[in-house]
Amino acid sequence: MTPTIIDGKLVSALVERETLARIEALTAAGVTPGLGVVLVGDDPASESYVNMKERDCARLGITSFDTRLRADATQDGLDAVIDALNGDPRVHGILIQQPLPRHLDVEEAVARVDPSKDVDGLHPDSLGRLMRGLPGLRACTPAGVMRMLQEYGVTLSGARAVVIGRSLLVGRPLAMMLLEADCTVTCCHSRTVDLRSVCREADLLVSAIGRPGMIGAGFVKKGAVVIDVGINRTPGGLVGDVDFEAVAPLASAITPVPGGVGPMTRAMLMSNTVTAAALAAGAA
Ligand code: NDP
Repeated sequence: MTPTIIDGKLVSALVERETLARIEALTAAGVTPGLGVVLVGDDPASESYVNMKERDCARLGITSFDTRLRADATQDGLDAVIDALNGDPRVHGILIQQPLPRHLDVEEAVARVDPSKDVDGLHPDSLGRLMRGLPGLRACTPAGVMRMLQEYGVTLSGARAVVIGRSLLVGRPLAMMLLEADCTVTCCHSRTVDLRSVCREADLLVSAIGRPGMIGAGFVKKGAVVIDVGINRTPGGLVGDVDFEAVAPLASAITPVPGGVGPMTRAMLMSNTVTAAALAAGAA
């Protein structure tokens, strides 16, 4: 079987074109969307993500209001930065780059963000709205996965979906979004018994674990759609959770790493920022 390669660069370019058109309309109405990213410490991966987000903003015409704090920043210091961004009318979206240094309370930081600026979709209000099926800002990575599935015409209603990973960032919100799209959803994690057998039942298998190449052919039913959220830095470069070479011949469609979910996450962040700006301007 030759699988369809689900191309995140292609779909993210489509999302970007839509976002650009919305930015042009907002700018014409006198509103320039603004995104504040807070980076604490000097984790190289986080720095590289923040740099990419800054470049995305610059390319699209979103103003960046980034704050970088030292790794020994206090919770009070972080709270003050969040409060300042909450109170700045030029800032429509706020993202706290994770992971935070261990001495800082990520729950407190995320909950402090004004929910109307929660473009990461991780505030309890945003997650609660997702749970209740109400409109709101959705977490970027799961929203990006949903958009890819939609663009490639993957049938979700009635499909058996297995999500590996239960983080608030990816696994849980994605499981909820798939449920909302009428999948029958199983959410797996490190305590799941006989993960392989559970995964082999999936029409749609999503891996968000963070273990390079862990998902081999034995986890995949013939004809399944396989989405690899994992991004793992190895000496050989960036790889996903899925052993692409082994799994691709079994799959009907599959995302590559890099070039799969990664670009979608960034595109959805820009899209969410523009949505927040439009809502703030009463234009959405
Ligand atoms: P977390 O570490 O927060 O969560 C990992 C999840 O995987 C946990 O639920 C954990 O289970 C589960 N897990 C770990 N080991 C196993 C195992 N052996 N078998 C089954 N489940 C296991 O990671 P994130 O959700 O933040 O990220 C997951 C991956 O996705 C990472 O590689 C990350 O880099 C990537 N990522 C990619 C993005 C993108 O844009 N493409 C965006 C965000 C993340 P338990 O809960 O029991 O510990």
